[in-house]
Amino acid sequence: MNTKEKKIQLKGLTLPELKDYFVSIDESRFRAQQVFNWMYNHLSTDFSEMQNISKELRNKLTANCELQTLNLVTTQGSSSSGTKKYLFSTFDNRKIESVVIPEKDRNTLCISTQVGCPLDCKFCATGLMGYKRNLSVGEVVDQYLLTAKEHGKKNITNIVYMGMGEPLLNYETTLKSVEIFTHELTKGLSRKRITISTAGIANKIRDLANRNLRVKLAFSLHSAFEDVRSLIMPINKKYSLNENIEALKYYAKRTKTRITFEYTMLKNLNDRDKDVKALTNLCSSLPSKINIIPFNSIKHMNPGGISSELEPTSIADIHLFADKLRNNNITVMIRETQGDDIAAACGQLAVKIK
Ligand code: SAH
Repeated sequence: MNTKEKKIQLKGLTLPELKDYFVSIDESRFRAQQVFNWMYNHLSTDFSEMQNISKELRNKLTANCELQTLNLVTTQGSSSSGTKKYLFSTFDNRKIESVVIPEKDRNTLCISTQVGCPLDCKFCATGLMGYKRNLSVGEVVDQYLLTAKEHGKKNITNIVYMGMGEPLLNYETTLKSVEIFTHELTKGLSRKRITISTAGIANKIRDLANRNLRVKLAFSLHSAFEDVRSLIMPINKKYSLNENIEALKYYAKRTKTRITFEYTMLKNLNDRDKDVKALTNLCSSLPSKINIIPFNSIKHMNPGGISSELEPTSIADIHLFADKLRNNNITVMIRETQGDDIAAACGQLAVKIK
């Protein structure tokens, strides 16, 4: 077993947990605040930087704790959009990816919650690579800290849980990482600037609503019809669209927020007139908006089965589709594809797994 596995991952601990840890090793609770401050405000990656902590304690921490849970392997920048993809390796030599997407007035960091993904959505490259394991809290948090170190902390303004994996299937980790990102000591991000995206784990959506975390919720819809959705998203057979919509209505009501429906446009599959009609009915039934995502090719994965048959709706047809929805008073955004030249666009994240 790798020795790192036995060490405590300090970045995986919330402030109350960190305080408890220091008490458990016969140190003052106050040390937790100091270490938290070094990790989140100074973005320290080495205990030797923690100057207000005695050498003795630093040695003790070095022996028992892990400060950095990920190693940056490479970065890749998109020449067309400024999007930057980060490849990290974990202690057990798994590879995960995060993406920083610059936009007009903000920079969004897209983070992963799992190595691979168990959901097997037919249009998604990560699904094709299979599932290996959940990420730890430290590994989720480190994606932010290591990219923030490079970009400057205040330059990462938004976080979206839209990288590899299904955040609601690594639920406790997702919750804890949100708690850390939004903790006042980290001078972090407001909850409004954090979006959790899910393919639809209905019971977890309800639980999230009850916790009143007040983060934004995005739901990967892709079809308003149960049968089409089941065809391209096998998870729909376990948690039906209907069940999810009821949970989303509850979320919207409890948190007084609007749900974002993500809708990847697939030719002849979800871009027909009857889709406009079904989407209009659905969106009119709860506070929501639609975020249309042009389908990003996953041909670089050489997929088989239905995945190989999926084609993107043309940009012109996407605009026509959006206009029809707008005529029905639905709020629609069309997301610009960013980073597809480096396979960093939505659904293109996948790394070869040993
Ligand atoms: N599991 C979560 C988060 C990861 S996917 C979820 O399903 O929401 C993030 C978004 O990218 C989802 O809306 C997903 O449906 C979309 N996506 C996946 N593959 C895509 C592709 N090839 N082209 C465009 N969007 C894609």
